[in-house]
Amino acid sequence: CGIFGYVNFLVPKTRGEIINTLREGLQRQEYRGYDSAGLAIDGDHEDEVLIYRQVGKVKELRKLIDEQKNLNLDAVFNAHAGIAHTRWATHGEPATRNCHPQVSDPKHQFSIVHNGIITNYKELKQFLSSKGRTFTSDTDTECIAQLFKYLYDENTKAGAHLDFSQLAKLVLRELEGAYGLLVKSVHYPAEVVASRKGSPLLIGVKTDKKLKVDFVDVEFQDTSMDVNGLMGPPTGDSLRHSQSRAFLSEDGPIPTEFFIASDPAAVVEHTRKVLFLEDDDIAHVCDGELHIHRATHTTGESTIRQIQTLE
Ligand code: GLU
Repeated sequence: CGIFGYVNFLVPKTRGEIINTLREGLQRQEYRGYDSAGLAIDGDHEDEVLIYRQVGKVKELRKLIDEQKNLNLDAVFNAHAGIAHTRWATHGEPATRNCHPQVSDPKHQFSIVHNGIITNYKELKQFLSSKGRTFTSDTDTECIAQLFKYLYDENTKAGAHLDFSQLAKLVLRELEGAYGLLVKSVHYPAEVVASRKGSPLLIGVKTDKKLKVDFVDVEFQDTSMDVNGLMGPPTGDSLRHSQSRAFLSEDGPIPTEFFIASDPAAVVEHTRKVLFLEDDDIAHVCDGELHIHRATHTTGESTIRQIQTLE
């Protein structure tokens, strides 16, 4: 199974072009084998995320999208985040409700693609059910999408406005098992969060401009977040948030495209400049910049992530 994400910033793309990029990204990972495919993109209205999911090959997903007569393929996006997935079912039979992207709610406030298995999903489902949340799939993945919304709602209610990576950090500390994942949200338009633990994930960067630095220096500073965790306010480490150095241009934001994939084979046709994520990295793509945070905090740890040029 494979995951693919595409984020453009100040590089105008039509919806049709965005869909093609996502579908080709999936097709190049076809050899990994799968039983379903799906993708999430922006709709025509603010706060609208469109989800297309289909059992079968990417070809079937293509057919489903081609049949959407009301989908305006010419709509132009200056900044947009799309995510896509080919599934190899581990929890829940191949069926539309179990395809990814899995969503947090009927309005798709958070949509997520995931490779791997969340081993404590039963406990998480139980917890969320006790809070009145209902589930629409048999997957382990759905609880991640629902956790994002639950923790977003709790913190918003408490007056804490977390950025996407801070929210992701709160969610990831509750997960056990293996994952490579991408998250998209109506609350953080044109942004993507990517993280991995035990599943491969890399980010390709494409820009005409010269990069200021070709590495990301992940430093650990105490930016003490005022947050609510699953069982109330977390303590100690989880209040700390690592700070990464964004790596792009000298003079502010520049036109950039990001290609996030399980396999370099899906990225090299677009760019050979790639950054491989490591376990427990949280990558945040936002306003043409890439920031890396750490899900776990180790005192004194400073980590360099190099942008490599693939042969
Ligand atoms: N465990 C998830 C599911 O069954 C993800 C499977 C995959 O890696 O494709 O939906």
